[in-house]
Order: sequence, then C-alpha cells, then structure tokens
Amino acid sequence: AKQQGRNHYQYYLAPEKTEAQIERFAMEAMLRKALEKDELLVYYQPRVNTKSESVVCVEALVRWQHPTLGIVAPKDFIPLAEETGLIVQLGEQVLRKACKQIKKWQDEGMDELSVSVNLSPLQFRQQHLPGVIARILRQAGLKPRFLELEITESAAMQNVNRNILMLRELKEMGVKISIDDFGTGYSSLSYLKKFPIDALKVDRSFISGIHEDPDDAAIVNAIIALAKTLKLNVTAEGVETESQYLYLQQHRCDEAQGYLFGKPMPPETFEEWYKLNMREKDLMFSPDF
Ligand code: C2E
Ligand code: MG
Ligand code: MG
Ligand code: MG
Repeated sequence: AKQQGRNHYQYYLAPEKTEAQIERFAMEAMLRKALEKDELLVYYQPRVNTKSESVVCVEALVRWQHPTLGIVAPKDFIPLAEETGLIVQLGEQVLRKACKQIKKWQDEGMDELSVSVNLSPLQFRQQHLPGVIARILRQAGLKPRFLELEITESAAMQNVNRNILMLRELKEMGVKISIDDFGTGYSSLSYLKKFPIDALKVDRSFISGIHEDPDDAAIVNAIIALAKTLKLNVTAEGVETESQYLYLQQHRCDEAQGYLFGKPMPPETFEEWYKLNMREKDLMFSPDF
C-alpha cells in the first residue's frame, strides 16, 4: 500500500509542475505587458519623525493594477520580476513615477518632503545605476537629497568591495541610502562601518515583539544604539500600536513607519491624509484612512 501511495503521488506531481510552469510563463507575459501598458501604480506610506511628529519622508511601494485581477501586491510579482530580470525596468518606472510625484508635491507646498524607493539587488548590481538615477532626477527636476534608496541588508553584504564603490558614487550625487529590513540579514559590522550610508530601517518583525518578547526589545535597542554610534538615522518599520510608537519615541528612534499612521496609499489619498494630519501640525492616528 505504501508503494502504491508513492506511485500515486508521483503520478500527480508531474502534471502539477507543468501547470506551475505554464502559469509562470503566463505571469511573465502579463508582467511584461503591464510594464508596456503602464499598469504599475506607486503607493506612498508616511514615515513620521518621532521628535517633530511630522512627515518628512514617504516610502514608495509598487502595486500592479491588473485589468481583471485588480490590485496585485508586491509579494505576488516582485519575486518573478527578479527572476526574469524585469525588475530592472519595473524599478526604473517606480523611481521615475516617485520622483515626479514628490516634485509635484513639493511644488504644491510640501516643501521638504523626501521619498524613499526600494532598489532590487539586481538593480543595485547594474554598473550604470548612478547614471540612470541621475537622469531620472534631472527629468523630474528633483534635487538628489530628496531621494533615498533602500537596499536590503543581504544585497548590501554581497560583493562588499564593489558595493562600497557604487554607494560612494551614489552618495557623491547627493542621494541618500538606507539599509532596509535591518536585522534579518547577516551584516558584518565592520563592513557596515565602511558603507557610506545614511540610515537603517529596523525590520518590522522586531517591532511587533517589542512588548511581548524581551529579546525583540533588546535587538531594537541595540540597533538604535548602533545607529547612533555610526551616526545613522534609524527608522522603525511596521509600527502598529500607539504603545510601540511611544516606546520608540522614548528610546530615541528617529522615525516610525507603519499602519498606526497610515497604510501605503495612492497619491490622491495621501494628499488627503497629509492635509488632515499635517495641516493642523497635530498628528492623528488614522490607519483606516
Ligand atoms: P519593504 O520595503 O520592507 O516595505 C514595507 C512593507 O511593509 C510594505 O509592504 C508595507 O505595506 C508593509 N507595512 C508597512 N507598515 C506595516 C505595518 O504596520 N504592519 C504590517 N504588517 N506591514 C506593514 P508591501 O507594500 O506589500 O511591500 C512588500 C515588499 O515588496 C517591500 O518591503 C519591498 O521589499 C518590496 N517592494 C515594494 N515595492 C517595491 C519596488 O518598487 N521595488 C522593489 N525592488 N521592491 C519593492
Ligand atoms: Mg523598503
Ligand atoms: Mg523593510
Ligand atoms: Mg520587507
């Protein structure tokens, strides 16, 4: 019976695999089309300065507006985009849209608003990346200091010597650089010291445990201390409760980002959110906006 069960399993495994392959091809074709047909949207999530309680920066987060599937989340297409190399084109579209949007908002009175944009490891490996970014900034009319590039810890720690050169080139242009999802990778602290970066973003997995897990609180405190020592700005990701926010404020974490303040929003919704929360210079917690 055991033997039969195994054969049974194998019999059904093969066609399933093919189906997955077909689906992958179909998805790849759809994604290619999405890039051509401009189906990508950029949502914006506020990053709140814990001292001034004002929004100094927004993170640009991509969404795919598929004609029949609706809004597709990054986790359902970024991995495929990475595997197929489409992420390079996708990432450039996001950068272009985000830079244009921020320039528009600055012109409309949000003078000092910056934007952070996620860079895929593949984009980061492109030798000509600084040139691409310089052109996008120029075309958008945005000053480089208003753009922050988020690279993941694991991307940063691969090919370190090359990365230092790349980061230096980007820094010389005047753009800012942060390490995203910090604490989940395997950072070498001696390399971190050598990286010309501006900020660390503490991964949200540590923030969610601040009050439940003493280890999480200890890690958050250690990352904040590390950032202070290296003179880096530090942002907490995934802040969902007021008590988490108060903890971070008390422990001198520079910025907080999370559903407590607002989810990633389309540009028009962010404008309303900003008016409501910032006009009064009094930050309200409006996660269900
Ligand atoms: P990330 O860069 O770490 O972005 C933060 C993610 O956490 C976002 O998910 C955001 O919606 C979510 N988040 C924010 N606050 C909270 C919270 O309080 N609670 C919870 N549970 N989640 C929160 P999103 O938008 O689904 O993006 C997921 C990931 O996809 C991003 O993680 C980033 O790695 C990637 N991604 C998004 N847009 C781009 C892009 O334009 N280019 C590249 N290369 N990657 C992108
Ligand atoms: Mg990010
Ligand atoms: Mg992150
Ligand atoms: Mg993440």
